[in-house]
Amino acid sequence: MKAAVFHSKNEPLKIEEVPVPEYKADEVLVKVAGCGLCRTDLHYLKGLPTFKKPPIILGHEISGTIAETGDNVSTFEKGDPVLIPPVFACAECFFCRTGRGTICTNQVMVGNHRDGGFAEYIAVPGSDIFKLPPEVPLVEGSIISDAISTPYHAVVNRAQIKPGDSAVVYGCGGVGLNTVQMATVAGANVIAVDIAPEKLELAKKLGAVETLNANDQEDVAKAVRKLSSGGVDVAFEVIGNPETIQNAYESTRWGGTLIVVGYTHKDITINAGRMMFREIEVKGSLGCGLQDYPKIINMVKYGKIKVKELVTHKFTLDQINDGFELLGKNEPTLIRAVAMIE
Ligand SMILES: [Zn+2]
Ligand SMILES: [Zn+2]
Repeated sequence: MKAAVFHSKNEPLKIEEVPVPEYKADEVLVKVAGCGLCRTDLHYLKGLPTFKKPPIILGHEISGTIAETGDNVSTFEKGDPVLIPPVFACAECFFCRTGRGTICTNQVMVGNHRDGGFAEYIAVPGSDIFKLPPEVPLVEGSIISDAISTPYHAVVNRAQIKPGDSAVVYGCGGVGLNTVQMATVAGANVIAVDIAPEKLELAKKLGAVETLNANDQEDVAKAVRKLSSGGVDVAFEVIGNPETIQNAYESTRWGGTLIVVGYTHKDITINAGRMMFREIEVKGSLGCGLQDYPKIINMVKYGKIKVKELVTHKFTLDQINDGFELLGKNEPTLIRAVAMIE
């Protein structure tokens, strides 16, 4: 089969012929239809090590159809459209047993611990994937796997947004814009912050009640506090930039919550006294637990959460490096790019 293989950092992916993966009795072989290009893949391309040493097939935001089923799999049939979540939790560790599967200590991520979805086929456990209803477009539906599920966990489980809450989302890329629409659906009045007017425009279409271009603001946190009469109940940082995380923290009201969704390996500086006096909470949010996927898929099925509008660019496997180049350049019209696997 054809696959885009990652060999070493700062080098383009190589399009190669590799063997179709073998599947075990409790696994299915999926013919990949769509696989999202995520900023996490860019981190690997730039040198963040993957758990499986290269060569590795990246890609962890996958949809497709069942091609073969292992002998012990009875829930799927050939041709079923399916969604593959990025991370499989072990169900046995302390965190899995206490309902915190997103921080499972034995988690396996496709396109990181093992080969991923920038390929024609992938073999995955039948117990960890989900059937997609016909109302969900198969290629664009791939982004449910990460770009929509990650905001769901951040908004619903970590922030516990309630109707009428005020929220700000810093960063309107693929995950950020979906945080805007997810927080809106959950009932929050959302302020969207970015530096690209194109993205802010889309944020408005997805429900943001206010938008702020950070480039136009001397003190963006102050502007958010002004717009929200003293600060927001919840601030989401979806970039992974220390300075932005600090701005998000300073955008919260007394008793507010900062949710860190973006990844950075760097330290952040936030005022501890303010955290104590104002009872501000700071929480991380990582991925999404398998138990939430059926609910998220239904939100897309019934049109509460949009996917087609978010997939602005499509690339074939042969063009995949062009896609990552655009993503790396922060192309303002690119919200989520998906590799279409023929
Ligand atoms: Zn991702
Ligand atoms: Zn676990």
